[in-house]
Amino acid sequence: MFPALLPTYNRTDVAFVRGEGSYLFAEDGKRYLDFGAGIAVNAFGYANPALIKALTEQAQLLWHTSNLYRVPGQESLSQKLVASTFADTVFFTNSGTEAIELAIKMARRHHFVNGQPDRFHIVSFEGAFHGRTMAAINAGGNEKYLEGFGPRMAGFDQVPLGDLDALKKIVGPHTAALIIEPLQGEGGVRPVAPEFLRALRKLCDDTGMLLIFDEIQTGVGRTGKLFAYEWLGLEPDIMTVAKGIGGGFPLGAVLATAEAADGMTVGTHGTTYGGNPLAMAVGNAAIDLALAPGFLDHVNKVANYLHQQLGALVAGHPDLFEGVRGQGLMIGLKMKTPSAEFLAAARANGLIVLPAGDNVVRLLPPLTLSEDEAREGMELLSKTASQLDAQKAAAQ
Ligand SMILES: *Cc1c(COP(=O)(O)O)cnc(C)c1O
Repeated sequence: MFPALLPTYNRTDVAFVRGEGSYLFAEDGKRYLDFGAGIAVNAFGYANPALIKALTEQAQLLWHTSNLYRVPGQESLSQKLVASTFADTVFFTNSGTEAIELAIKMARRHHFVNGQPDRFHIVSFEGAFHGRTMAAINAGGNEKYLEGFGPRMAGFDQVPLGDLDALKKIVGPHTAALIIEPLQGEGGVRPVAPEFLRALRKLCDDTGMLLIFDEIQTGVGRTGKLFAYEWLGLEPDIMTVAKGIGGGFPLGAVLATAEAADGMTVGTHGTTYGGNPLAMAVGNAAIDLALAPGFLDHVNKVANYLHQQLGALVAGHPDLFEGVRGQGLMIGLKMKTPSAEFLAAARANGLIVLPAGDNVVRLLPPLTLSEDEAREGMELLSKTASQLDAQKAAAQ
């Protein structure tokens, strides 16, 4: 019989029923330290009191009105985001992939209203992940996600990550925008050289192409800055945000300069749910947490500790690990053995970590992770690594 739940996931057989700070509790009562945070979503930990208060207070008042009316929470949250980023304007969505859709529409529309209707190509980079809608899988370019879903959409080009010559060959008067994750997430926590990102900015400045940063995973403090572009001394024209911005409530956003957004006039885009009062209540409370003095200092402090300790862990298990990479609390352990084995062994030890492309074990703890919890995580990672090494030795 076909399962009642569409079988598009190969799910781990564990059901969590409760969360508290950096810990998850399963149906059977077992406690886990969570270095996955619902894939970089639960940035402020589970059952965060400020977020619970914001959500439950709003739940008593009003859930949804549609975007036919003013939504005060959208006005305040957009002002906070504009005040703390490069952007002049913000649109709220329910998810990351919806933000990607709008970013692509916005870039094309910008050139359309500026007299270049044929300038609609979007260039992305190998290893990218931009979501699962039709435009997002075409932008992502991953064959696994495209197969069987009809012909490739026109207007999407892709080049190897870091290959400026290939990029220069493919762009032209037909190119509307470049889209890139400043640090690839799903692709395997693959870093992008700052010089390459700066070269993209210059190429866009020289040609009028728009630079879209997909900060759905890197944003909202994950890398130790509010947004990863701040490390680079450059600004994108359009930025997609989701995951951490809702602290666990479905919320995404597109941030843009006035110039990039100049085609988005009344009637050109919309959403029924996007930016609804519940999402805005949580989003406002979440950004207040992220902007609070000392928050990013804490992220950087815990991240520095983890990177240091992980460097030692990798050096101590050369048959298991190839290296450690990433920035802030977005960390990848490149494995020599199958990453799935490490995930399962860590879980058995009470630590949740995530898979990623390129045989990488991904660590995305809540940004509120304490130093004690970071130490506990390191102990569990170290225990897991020693067990796997011992198993390998015994098998030889
Ligand atoms: C998760 C992710 C997306 C897709 O977001 P959804 O909310 O799953 O639609 C897009 N881009 C990046 C970089 C992501 O990490």
